[in-house]
Amino acid sequence: MANEASASSPSPSPSPSVWEEEFLGADSGWVEARTSCDHLSSLCSDLSQIPIPDSPCTRCQHPTENWLCLSCKDVLCSRFVNQHMLKHFQETEHCLALSYSDLSVWCFCCDAYLDAQVILQLRPVYEVAHLLKFGERPPFRTIEYLQLCDNQVEGSSSSS
Ligand SMILES: [Zn+2]
Ligand SMILES: [Zn+2]
Ligand SMILES: [Zn+2]
Repeated sequence: MANEASASSPSPSPSPSVWEEEFLGADSGWVEARTSCDHLSSLCSDLSQIPIPDSPCTRCQHPTENWLCLSCKDVLCSRFVNQHMLKHFQETEHCLALSYSDLSVWCFCCDAYLDAQVILQLRPVYEVAHLLKFGERPPFRTIEYLQLCDNQVEGSSSSS
């Protein structure tokens, strides 16, 4: 990790207001995904079965590149189509969404991407989505491994 010395200029001050534009250019490379999120408690308890990546938006039937709500597994279009995922967040406060376009995970509350390979709670659904979209698992530890490590807590549904 000695590469930091390559740029000797003082640290730039990035403006958070550019996030909306950069949402478009997510694969430009520099976008930093968060490795933590305070809103993971809103994740659906069963994300082992999710709609296929080609599912249309449930509101406007937009056919591709929609978002999966990770709280209720609704499939909704992006803010560049009819903003149904964004409206869903505003209506329900379901803030975690997985992109069927590039399998990135966005938190509306954090207003940032989340690193699904680092955040353990996001790994299973990322794997399932990857499997559905590409026909193979992503190149990291598998769901089976996570289930081995996971204490199978029964009767944990406390919502009423
Ligand atoms: Zn968050
Ligand atoms: Zn829509
Ligand atoms: Zn939802």
